[in-house]
Amino acid sequence: MPELPEVEVVRRGLEGHVLDRRIEAVEVLHPRPVRRHLPGPADFAAVLTGRTFTAARRRGKYLWLPLDSGDAMLGHLGMSGQMLVQSRGAADERHLRVRFALAGGTELRFVDQRMFGGLSLAPGGAELPAELLHIARDPLDPEFDDAEFVRRVRRSASGIKRILLNQSVISGVGNIYADEALWLARLHGDRRGDRLRVADVELVLAAARQVMTAALGQGGTSFDALYVNVNGESGYFDRSLEVYGQEGEPCSRCGTAVRRTSFMNRSSFFCPTCQPPPWGSTQRATVRRTGTNVPATR
Ligand SMILES: [Zn+2]
Repeated sequence: MPELPEVEVVRRGLEGHVLDRRIEAVEVLHPRPVRRHLPGPADFAAVLTGRTFTAARRRGKYLWLPLDSGDAMLGHLGMSGQMLVQSRGAADERHLRVRFALAGGTELRFVDQRMFGGLSLAPGGAELPAELLHIARDPLDPEFDDAEFVRRVRRSASGIKRILLNQSVISGVGNIYADEALWLARLHGDRRGDRLRVADVELVLAAARQVMTAALGQGGTSFDALYVNVNGESGYFDRSLEVYGQEGEPCSRCGTAVRRTSFMNRSSFFCPTCQPPPWGSTQRATVRRTGTNVPATR
């Protein structure tokens, strides 16, 4: 599933390849990706034909391409969506869903095997589509408000990982980057927001920025072979992951085996030594009483 750095890589690719070229034709090969356009696929094609994409913007994992009409085309990659730029005449991808023929002989192609993602028209949405008003800025956004984030975390009784995944507080930090950031900040994801110090929250925010920026520099992660960036090139950040997907591997800081727990129908990975769980305090107390030096790992 693409996370923010992958989506940002796609945004940059679109910015470099599809702006200021008239859309000469739109072909919807499967209706599902445009299901949110209620007037239907034919209307979707008709309103976009003849228009020009003027920018490529992003909030969290949503992309939008403002049009010269003041509207925008809103896109979400879902689990497996790709935006590919191809020359006209290149062979169709197996899961090609929507094709935009652009002036100058290139095509923008929306390819999506599982079709959880999609494209829609956002009337008047060039600046910010109405659908995205409830989504907070992401930590790489220059206008992200650090102080407000710290306040909101410290007012919440939820675990810090759950807060990091709440798109109305901070957007774009998915499961992978949340685990990596928490490892860097040496915080367990179950630590309650209202029990963290300001410095802890600042640390986890800085850590989120660090892992996401590193991923951006490498073209994003790629756990899903289905994900490729705008030019069809896979990311390779997965080689530098510290805890995510590393169950049983030694933590690079302390050597303790990385643990996996289930979390909201997904998994959380953490180092039980560097990131002691708040619910592990009983076991630690036992260790102290008995005077043994065995790390509490269960
Ligand atoms: Zn460790």
